[in-house]
Amino acid sequence: MTLIADDHTDSQLVSTDPRDGSPVGSWPIDGPAQVDAAIAAARGAAEWWRAQGFAGRRKHLQAWKTEIAEGARELAAVISQETGKPEGDALLEVVLTLTHLDWASKRAGKVLSRRKVASGLASYNQSASVGYEPYGVVGVIGPWNYPFYTPMGSISYALAAGNAIVFKPSELAPATAKWIEAAWNRAVPGHAVFGVVVGDGATTGAALVAAGVDKLAFTGSAATAKRVMAAAAERLTPVVIEGGGKDAMIVAADADLDAAAGFAVFGGMGNAGQTCAGVERVYVEEGVAEAFVAKLVAAVAKLHPGPEASDSYGPMTLARQSEIVARHVGEALDRGAVAVVGGRESIAGGYVQPIVLRDVPEDCAVVTEETFGPVLVVNPVRDLDEAVARANATDYGLGASIFTKDLRKGRALAERLRAGAVTVNSVLGFAGIPGLPFGGRGESGFGRIHGADGLREFSVVKSVAVQTMKPMLDLLTMERSAKDMHLAERMLHMMHGRRGKR
Ligand code: NAD
Repeated sequence: MTLIADDHTDSQLVSTDPRDGSPVGSWPIDGPAQVDAAIAAARGAAEWWRAQGFAGRRKHLQAWKTEIAEGARELAAVISQETGKPEGDALLEVVLTLTHLDWASKRAGKVLSRRKVASGLASYNQSASVGYEPYGVVGVIGPWNYPFYTPMGSISYALAAGNAIVFKPSELAPATAKWIEAAWNRAVPGHAVFGVVVGDGATTGAALVAAGVDKLAFTGSAATAKRVMAAAAERLTPVVIEGGGKDAMIVAADADLDAAAGFAVFGGMGNAGQTCAGVERVYVEEGVAEAFVAKLVAAVAKLHPGPEASDSYGPMTLARQSEIVARHVGEALDRGAVAVVGGRESIAGGYVQPIVLRDVPEDCAVVTEETFGPVLVVNPVRDLDEAVARANATDYGLGASIFTKDLRKGRALAERLRAGAVTVNSVLGFAGIPGLPFGGRGESGFGRIHGADGLREFSVVKSVAVQTMKPMLDLLTMERSAKDMHLAERMLHMMHGRRGKR
């Protein structure tokens, strides 16, 4: 299957600031030929990178980290220009990302070094071990909402595991990717271990998927993920999918309502609601619903979206996202939802003012689909069982949060939620804990970035069994003796049959 019409394009990709439309930069769009060249360069460097071993890679990744840290303000300014988010939010993205890069580079050796495993009674004459090898070249396809933190969640862990990278950023954020690439080239000059190709999904993204990388790490919407997987299936290229979310927050009657309201605003409205694991739905026990909504309304009233660094959040990064927000909000209001903050009139121009809806029918799109705007749905529930049932009644399964003063209850509820990551008494608390794997289920995708599982995600498992002595029972031969088979049968009954249980 070929998704690409042209073999080369001379068109330019122009990145613009969504706050005022001013250009941030422009680059030639990379077509299949350029993508192939980038993969070939990465493949050439991959052997060198692998040969550095864990200690060598750690040194280089630490040098890259330092280079990024020294330029953090400059990088944050680029992220802010391309996404429209306030620079403080962009700087926070850099801080969190470097925590992961640091952890991955230091822990890869411990997690991925070959380790012995027990060989068991029947194979006592074998020495068994498990090792983890890099895939080779990993293709990374990124989104625009966290154009540094999100793709680096794959890139940092894949590099630490010994892979070379070809990264195709979102067409909305090429300058951020080019900045990271330049920092790499300063930190590790002369080695094309990390390369960037720029362009839209249909041209450059599809070329990367079709070109035969050894593994793909995709972050984006479920709809695109399905197209990427279908194309990757042509070569049986393994994929890890970090998709969207429709995260629920559960507020128990015994919760600290001020904290819950504060986190709901941060998780729901921060970054203009354009956060994969942000809060989109709140289920609050009915006894405290009025008090919670009052606190939420008071907290939301303090928000002031705008273009300045001191504003609460910026415009919609992708202009057409406002249409989705308008459709979701409009349908909910038509079907009887109550707007306690904002409404249809909140969506005008590039900015969306905060919207809080309550008593929304559960089959409205604003409850079932990713809205990706500063919109919170608050629905009262009879009890926590109903809250769990509603939280789980979505095709997505990325994150979820629970607010209760009873931490035991919080932990027990966390076990019942169909989500890849759950926080108790905070939202997005996992984002800065590098030891915690991150990823979803259902429409939110599969596979994990971050943590030891994130390192293993970008590794091929290799098992080795070494025969260290001749076995007493020689069964792996074409000339098995009747005596050995008799003994084997007796062993079988001793170990696995009723006789063994006596
Ligand atoms: P998107 O699906 O529109 O695009 C994602 C990437 O895929 C872009 O780089 C795009 O150019 C590329 N692409 C598009 N078509 C392609 C094709 N046919 N072949 C290969 N690549 C193709 O998503 P987006 O709008 O950029 O990002 C927002 C989405 O990402 C939201 O759903 C959000 O929840 C999700 N997201 C998830 C996570 C996570 O970690 N789970 C993190 C951030 C964002």
